[in-house]
Formats: sequence, structure tokens, C-alpha cells
Amino acid sequence: MTKEDEKVIPVRVVMRCRPLVSKEINEGCQCCLTFVPGEPQVIVGNDKAFTYDYVFDPTTEQEEVFNTAVSPLLSGLFRGYNATVLAYGQTGSGKTFSMGGTYTSEQENESTVGVIPRVIRRIFQEKSKCADCEFLLAVSYLEIYNEEILDLLCTSKDKPIISIREDPKDGIKIVGLTEKEVFTAHEMVGCLELGNSARTVGSTAMNAASSRSHAIFTISLEQRRKGDKSDVMVSKLHLVDLAGSERQKKTKAEGDRLKEGISINRGLLSLGNVISALGDESKKGSFVPYRDSKLTRLLQDSLGGNSHTLMIACVSPADSNIEETINTLRYADRARKIKNKPILNVDPRAVEMKRLRQQVRSLFGVLGLLGAFQITMEQTNEKLQSKLEELRQHAAMKSQRVQLMRQMKEDSEKFRLWKQKKDKEVLQLKEKDRKRQYEMLKLERDFQKQASVLRRKTEEAAAANKRLKDALQKRSEVAEKRKEVQNRGAEGVSSRIKNWLLNEVEVLVSTEEARRHLQDLLEDRKMLAEEISQLRQQMEAGERPVAKVRRRTLTISELEGQGELEASISKQVESLETEMGLRSAQIADLQQKVLDADNDGRIKQRWDSITTIVEAKSALKILMAEVVASKVANAKLESELKQEKANLLDMQKILCDERKLMSSMDMEHQSQLVEMEQRHQEKEEEIEKLRKLNDQNQKLMDENEQYKQCACRGRCVNKLCRCRKGKMTCGENCLCDHEKCRNMENRSNVVSRICSFKEPGVVCLPCGWPIPDVISSEIGDIGHLPADLKLEKKPVPADNESDSDDSEVMNSTSSFLRSKKRGLNNFKNSFFSGCTPIREEH
Ligand code: ADP
Ligand code: MG
Repeated sequence: MTKEDEKVIPVRVVMRCRPLVSKEINEGCQCCLTFVPGEPQVIVGNDKAFTYDYVFDPTTEQEEVFNTAVSPLLSGLFRGYNATVLAYGQTGSGKTFSMGGTYTSEQENESTVGVIPRVIRRIFQEKSKCADCEFLLAVSYLEIYNEEILDLLCTSKDKPIISIREDPKDGIKIVGLTEKEVFTAHEMVGCLELGNSARTVGSTAMNAASSRSHAIFTISLEQRRKGDKSDVMVSKLHLVDLAGSERQKKTKAEGDRLKEGISINRGLLSLGNVISALGDESKKGSFVPYRDSKLTRLLQDSLGGNSHTLMIACVSPADSNIEETINTLRYADRARKIKNKPILNVDPRAVEMKRLRQQVRSLFGVLGLLGAFQITMEQTNEKLQSKLEELRQHAAMKSQRVQLMRQMKEDSEKFRLWKQKKDKEVLQLKEKDRKRQYEMLKLERDFQKQASVLRRKTEEAAAANKRLKDALQKRSEVAEKRKEVQNRGAEGVSSRIKNWLLNEVEVLVSTEEARRHLQDLLEDRKMLAEEISQLRQQMEAGERPVAKVRRRTLTISELEGQGELEASISKQVESLETEMGLRSAQIADLQQKVLDADNDGRIKQRWDSITTIVEAKSALKILMAEVVASKVANAKLESELKQEKANLLDMQKILCDERKLMSSMDMEHQSQLVEMEQRHQEKEEEIEKLRKLNDQNQKLMDENEQYKQCACRGRCVNKLCRCRKGKMTCGENCLCDHEKCRNMENRSNVVSRICSFKEPGVVCLPCGWPIPDVISSEIGDIGHLPADLKLEKKPVPADNESDSDDSEVMNSTSSFLRSKKRGLNNFKNSFFSGCTPIREEH
């Protein structure tokens, strides 16, 4: 055995913090970790520092993690040492990401490739460098799911039963597990991919693709020097991706997920116990509970055994995960104290042989160099070959150009259709936008409401904070006092225990209260962040062309102007951001207090105060009294609550009745309103009708007025006379020759019959009727007319020279004349019935 073999090597611990993921950013989470530049140290909150072998902050790339922490293990592996890489941490903290547990060969050249694919690549690189060795590589891949070992490389349906055996020489062995021999990196990656695809993955609230099992990918490396069968080394590398430690409350797991969670936690708890037992100096040599779970049995060699072990403790930087982060960091801190004793897995006789051969090998060093040169040449050759292949492909991509043109045409047609579809979608989106406007207004209202609730919660949290602070202060005072009282002897036992116990209870209660408020604050902040992002989205949407629709909507609903609205949104965002900042500060403050109250040493020392049976009895008595008092208070509160609930139900019933009454009144009011509206409408219709009639009337009057002013300068005997056309007699205003006009009513009357009674102003005796002044003057005039004055026969409508179009006019004219004639006849029988008719001349 060499000196190196006797060395005790502690488990190396790497802390890796991933960046904030988008979910955490959206919830407004802040980073609660500080990294000390140049030091492998991380500080949680204000002052809780942890130091590890390496600390990787969120900006660290996968390559750096591999080169710094994992690569040294691989050199050990080739020297014959077992090695283990173990990823530990809360669900969603980046274990699978770090280990490469979702790797597929398409990701080969990506920088995000994790540990396992990099290990495979490195092993084959190293292997190719050792020309004088024969290598035998085999892999196995298993997962522990619900305390059952599943073979991830076994594809057959009838899977053999897998059991764990412990061999005093070879250590832990897994019987029935597929161990696949591989010759190339490609084959090994194939195994990894096969196993990864078979892993049990489920979705939880913390991680959309959470690994629900512990997975162990094992690479066995057997090295045999060429030509010497006795020089054999077999070393194993376990790459372990543990399932996440999780709090059911946070992952919101139910059913199978919850069952998985419980068994995951059981495995991790036993791992924690093993780590504690191994890491605690005071428990050195005591029993280590490896057999508590399958996980710890399989990792027996890696923890406190024959292996170089690296633990990658993965954490999230979000302050919402601070408790889980602290737990992981404490776990990792304990793991650092584990001391392993890795031994070289070779036959001791072979060691001496190896040493001698080493000398021979150094002589052939030059040969090795030549070998390396050859490898470089081969690599260059490979590169050239690939370039040649590329060029060939290039020539083939040209012939496709014509095809591409055709393709482009088809594509443009497709694009047109696509555009049509999209236009339709845009319309729908606009419609949605309109609805969103309404929702936004609603949100604004809700915002005011929430603000007051948040204010209340903040006050409560501040009160809890103060209470915890007071309790902590008191605790330190009590600790001081205790020291004093201890010195005073047994008489102070009861009061000392009482003081201490009550204070301890107060601290625990305040801590739990503070935790509850902390949870509330985290929820609040998440809600605020969601609101901010919603408002921002709305603001952004407002800048797009849909703004037009929005503006219109706002006008319709008579809302504020768009500018005003946006200003109000940005004001809201501002105030929400301030609120969020306030929450973050409160969260940080409360978390620090909880950390202080809950520190590791405190929990351990809690029961150190009770050292005798008397103290224990006294403590029990006090606790009993406290329990009884709090139960009584609880019962009282419960009965009060019941009473209040009953009151609430009554009030709700009353409210319901009032609402019903209101709605019936409202309906009645509505029906009345409808009726009145109907009546109003009817009235309006009537008014409208009257207005129309009035208009018609007015029109007729206007027309009438026009006809009154006939413009013919003749005798108004034919259709050219407007008055005759309109079946009217000419009047004083007409421009016709009144003397000659045949359409003057008075004239026609006068000219048709002349009273023999020539004296104007006197009563016509034969008629016994007074002659009106006008007529008498006319008569007077007529009396001076020559005796050839005749009663002309009105022209018969045989006015054939007129157009057929005018026939209607003529008809009306003739009827007018007929009526005139009839009038004259009547006249003859009445007013001038005694008058002598003048003989008509032809
Ligand atoms: P776990 O296996 O611990 O449950 P995952 O490895 O599945 O968590 O990681 C959860 C999420 O965080 C994944 O989306 C992953 O891509 C992302 N992530 C984890 N670590 C990092 C990192 N270092 N850089 C970027 N993203 C990361
Ligand atoms: Mg995982």
C-alpha cells in the first residue's frame, strides 16, 4: 500500500447556485445569497456564512464546474480510485441540469451540457491517450423510486428482481442489474440517453420536470496493461442525481406525487443521518445507519468508504427558498466533515510490477510523444475529411436551388393564406383587447381594495417581527439569569425551568408566526409582481396599432382619455413597485430574525437545560398547565367563532332578502320605464305625422301663391295660363290683362250676366238683392260698354292642338269650366235672376 492510499480524504463539497429562473423573476423574488469574491464562501441573509471547497455563483458555466471540481476525480479514476459525484439540493435547484440528466446527443456541442456527458467525453479522451493499456468499460444506470431499485438500461418487460449484497472484499454489489459493456463514447452516451428517457419525472409547482427518483449512473473502468494479465485495476465512478428535497406545502404535490415526495424525503433523511453520523466527531466510531434506506446502502462506499467523493450542493438564490437553501447548505456543511479512505483497487503484488513498468514506460516517453503527434495528425485528417464532406454537400445544396424557387412560390401562396388567417386573428385580438380594457378598469378598482388588505397584512407582519424580536431579547436575558439562578441552588429549579420553558415556547410560537407571515409576504409579493407584469403587458399592448380600437372603446364607454389611462397605469405600476420593494425589505428582515431564532446550535442545546428528573418533572408540569390553558382558550375561541359564524349566516340571509326586494323593485321600475318610453314614442310619431301634414300644407300654400301670380299677358284662355292650369281663377295680382282676361272670376260673372238695373249702390229690384260695390261699379262700367258685349261660351276642351301630355290639364280645365258654367246657372237663378241676358254674337 502506498502512502497515498492510507490518506484520509474528506468529502469535497461544491456549492452551486443557479440563476433566478423566470418563474422566480415573475414573482418578484430577490437574491438572498452574497458571494465573496475570490473566496469559496457564501453568505445567506446578512451574516450567515458558509465555506466549502468551491463555491460557484449563478454566472458559472458548466465547463468551469466540470474542470474545477469533477476533472480531478477522473484522474483518480484512471489511477484506480473509486469516485462519486453526488448532486444534492431542493427540487428545481439545478441538480439534473448540473449532472446532465436530460442529455440527448443533439446537445453535444452546447455549453449547457452537464457533468455526465463531459465525463464520458473525457474518459474516452484519456483512454485514447493510454496506448499501452487495454480498457474494459461498462455502464449501469438505476433509479431508486419509492424505495425500489429500477434498472434503467433493461428494456425487456420481464425485469429481473434487483437486490443489494454486501461483499466483505468487493463492498456493495447490486445483483440483477444490467451492466452494459461499451466500446465507444457514442455507445456510452446511448446508454445515458436510454436511461434518461426511462427516468420517472413528474411535474410539481416547483419544477415542471422534477425528477421523482434518485438516479445513479455507474461507469466501471477496468484497466489491464497490455501483455500482463496480472496488472488489473477496476475502479468505479458513480454519478448520482438525487431527487429534490422538498416541502409538500411548496411543491403542492398530491396523490402519487405526494407518496413519491414522502419516500424521496425518507431516502434523503437517512442520507442526512448517515452524513451526520459520519461527520460528527463526537460520534466517531459509532453506528452508521447505512441500512435505513436503499439510497444509503448503495452510497455506502461513497460516504465514509472507499471513494473520492464530491457533493454538488445545488441551491436557488431566490429569497422565497431561503429555508430550503439554508437546509441544503447545512447538509453540505456536515458532509464536508466526512472522511473517506479511498484505496487503490489493485492487487498489491501488481503495484511493485507497476512501478517497474513505470520506469520502462518513461523510457518509452518519446514513443508516447510520437503517439500523441500521430493522434494530432489523425485529428487534422478527420477535420479535412469533414471539410471535404461539407464542400460536397454545398454542391448538392445548388441543384436544389430550382426546387427552392418552386418551393418559394408555394410558400408565398401559403403565406397569403396564413396572412388571411392572421388578419382574422388580429380582428379577434382587437375584440379581446376591448374586453381587456374593461377588465383593466375592474383591476384598477380591485387594486384599491387589495392595497388596503396588503396594508393590514404588513402591519400584522411588523407586529410579528416585533414580537419575535422581544422574545429573542427576553431569551438572551433569561439565559443570563439562568446562569445566576443556577448558582443559587435547587430552590430556584422550578422558577428557572418555568422561565426558560415559557420563553422557549414564546420563541417557538413567535418563530412559527413569523414564518406564517413570511409566507404571506412572499405570496403578496408574488401577487404584486404578477399585477405589475399584467399592467406592463397592457401598457405595451396599448402602444400597438390596436390602440385605435381601444380608444374607440373608451369613447363608447365614456371612460377617461387614453393618455390619462396610461398615466394612471404607470402610476399604479410605480406604487406597486414601491409596495414590492417594501415587501422585499420586510421579507429579508423577517428571514434574518427567523434564522437567528432557529440557528443550529440553539436547536441542539434546547434540551441541555434539563439535566435531572426533578427538572424534567417540573418542565412537564409547566407544559401541562400551558397545554390545558391554551386548550381552554382555544375552546372558548372556537365557541365564539361558531357564534360569529351563525351571526354571519343570519346577516347573509337578511342581505339576500334585501337584495331580492331590491331586484323586484328594480324590475317594476324598469317595466314602468319601458311603458313610458313606449307612450313617449307614440306621441313623437303623432307629432311627426302632424309635422309632415304641416309641411305638405305649407307646400301647397306656396304652390298656391305661385299660381296666384299668373304671368300670361293675354286672356288666360288656354293652358299657358298658370291659374287655369291650377284650376283657379285669376286675381288682382295676376299680370294678365284684366280687361281681356277670361279667367277673372268677377269679370266672368259680370260679363256673363248684366243686370238691367244700372244704378250702382242700389238694390236690384227684380232680384231684391243689394249689388256689391265692386260689382255695381263693374256693372256701371259695363253699362257704358257697347251693346255688342256678349256672354261667351267657354271654349270646349276640344283643344286638339295641345299635346296629349296636357290632356290631364285640359280635362281639369274643362271640368273647371263646367263648374263655372254651373255656377253661372246658379247665379242666374239667384242673384241676377231678373237680369236680361245679352244676346251672344257668333
Ligand atoms: P432539479 O433537478 O434540482 O429539480 P433542474 O436541474 O431540473 O432541477 O433545474 C430546474 C430548472 O432550472 C431547469 O429549467 C434548469 O434548466 C434551470 N437551471 C438549473 N441550473 C441552472 C444553471 N446553472 N443555469 C441556468 N439554468 C439552470
Ligand atoms: Mg432533477
